[in-house]
Amino acid sequence: MAIGLQRSALFEALGTHAPLSTAIVHHGSDVTYSYGSLLRDVACTKEQLEQVTGRNESTIAGERIAFLVENGYDYVVTLLAVLASNAIALPLAPSFPASEIRHIINDSGAFLLLSSAKYAQQANAVLQDGLEATPLFHHLDDLKQFAVEDQEVNLIGTTATNNGGIMLYTSGTTGRPKGVLLSTNTLAAQAQSLLTAWEYTPEDHLLHVLPLHHIHGIVNAILTPLLAGSSIEFLYPFDAHAVWERLALPFQTTQEIIPGNSGPVPHNERTPISILTAVPTVWARLLQTHSTLEPETLAAAKQSISRKHLRLNISGSAALPKPTLDGWTELSGGNILLERYGMTEVGMALSCGLDDSDRVPGSVGWPLPLVEVRLWEVNVDTGVGSVISLGEEIDSGSGKERHGEIQLRGPTIFREYWRNPAATKKEFTEDGWFRTGDIAVRRTVPGCGAGKSGTWASGAAYFVQGRQSADIIKTGGEKVSALEIERELLSLPQVNECAVVGLPSESWGQKVAAVVLLSDDWRKTEKPWGLADMRRALKEQLVPYKIPQDLEIVPSIKRNAMGKVNKKELVTAVFGDVERIRRRSVHIREERDRLKRS
Ligand code: AMP
Repeated sequence: MAIGLQRSALFEALGTHAPLSTAIVHHGSDVTYSYGSLLRDVACTKEQLEQVTGRNESTIAGERIAFLVENGYDYVVTLLAVLASNAIALPLAPSFPASEIRHIINDSGAFLLLSSAKYAQQANAVLQDGLEATPLFHHLDDLKQFAVEDQEVNLIGTTATNNGGIMLYTSGTTGRPKGVLLSTNTLAAQAQSLLTAWEYTPEDHLLHVLPLHHIHGIVNAILTPLLAGSSIEFLYPFDAHAVWERLALPFQTTQEIIPGNSGPVPHNERTPISILTAVPTVWARLLQTHSTLEPETLAAAKQSISRKHLRLNISGSAALPKPTLDGWTELSGGNILLERYGMTEVGMALSCGLDDSDRVPGSVGWPLPLVEVRLWEVNVDTGVGSVISLGEEIDSGSGKERHGEIQLRGPTIFREYWRNPAATKKEFTEDGWFRTGDIAVRRTVPGCGAGKSGTWASGAAYFVQGRQSADIIKTGGEKVSALEIERELLSLPQVNECAVVGLPSESWGQKVAAVVLLSDDWRKTEKPWGLADMRRALKEQLVPYKIPQDLEIVPSIKRNAMGKVNKKELVTAVFGDVERIRRRSVHIREERDRLKRS
């Protein structure tokens, strides 16, 4: 008898990859797993899941299965086994506090929690209390008690009967985390879109340094390479020195003389890394640490990131600062970081192109294949919204650029928040477009978007201005993009990291404020640097109303695993309660008025 895996585009592709070719590598131990063994282990785990839970193919379909497993082969097998069972995978982050994991288990109604040996204690703590219905709990090792004979594997059902998928929880900055249900068919469309745009191949070897409870690490760095037959090497948690050493390894030479071979020979047979996809803070960290490498690693590391070897270096999940982009281009001898934009609900939506001419500084490029994008502008006076048509990016009256919300449609977009029709309704327009909450402009950039990276990368390019709720600051009747100001601040030698926020102001509605972490070089000089210095330095770059009116120098800026700053939390931590700031600002205005009168 054969083991049946629920049919999907991913499993159809997995069945066609050369069984002996490498699918997964564990960096530390150097253990390698082939596509053949991956498929066999997924089938075996799928059988064991049914046995350990007493379910069958029809009673497990559509069920939620939560798991806490470290990055590596076991994670991939568990994820794929849940998809093969036609069930919904809920990857949990070991970094989540127990209360958040309980919320996810309660909200999703997960019937099973799986954990690796490493996280068994953490899973046990989650089960202690606070759960509405306690799920079955098993260690991955428990599955091994059910011996499954080596059987043939085939696909069952059709893609139309697929009830499976992955559920990821949003970060919950604006309320309790919501479950984003990405069906297997949606995931397949997302992976297919990236495969077309970025041309993953079986020859690609991707270094995986990202967390695995997030869309970026799962879709861009697992599902798409698996769809293409590429290999994935796990090196997690991210450690800049370890990454440099791994990148450099195939290019290090030894002076060992091998008979019949003159000159230095490659030190190691390790495959060069051809794809590295990461968040801006990871690229910045790599840049900062390169010069601290041992002399023999330094040159090899530099060689490893040239365009010839690292054919794809991608940045996303947050805006890429210009100094990081420029620093990487210089260090790598011209390998330009490719920036893309995406979110949990939609996978990747916009991307720069493979051709160098389509890597546009500050831009996230063009709508990816299968993705429909429109910009929705709301008139401030009338509150009426309309689409910014192609070619009408400049307001004919004011001559200013028109800003609009990025709205998305197509097979890559999720269908619903789990059991939350009110939230789903709120985030979709009546004609079916998903409201991202991000604001962008579209600009024609000479020399770019000529279709050299594919027809999808044509025409005017998109430039993200930030999240409407946190990054668009309304000051004195003008709308200001925090991201634009952050980009300028980051180009100053004094600034290492920064976040620009809007604070309540009685005079301006909101006023622009900057939170800055000074650069190491500047700190070493021990010269003071304050508000007046910053304002003077920005005078040439920004119109006066965009220049921050407040500055706080801080010892660190808190970011999540994807390098994102929660600006609401930051404002409270740095400036105090927003309501108090508002009251104080009212008080200052009243004082001013009183002085004027007297
Ligand atoms: P998440 O769902 O956690 O991946 O967060 C998605 C959000 O990250 C988007 O809505 C954007 O606000 C932000 N984001 C992702 N990529 C970029 C980018 N390249 N530039 C600016 N913001 C980005």
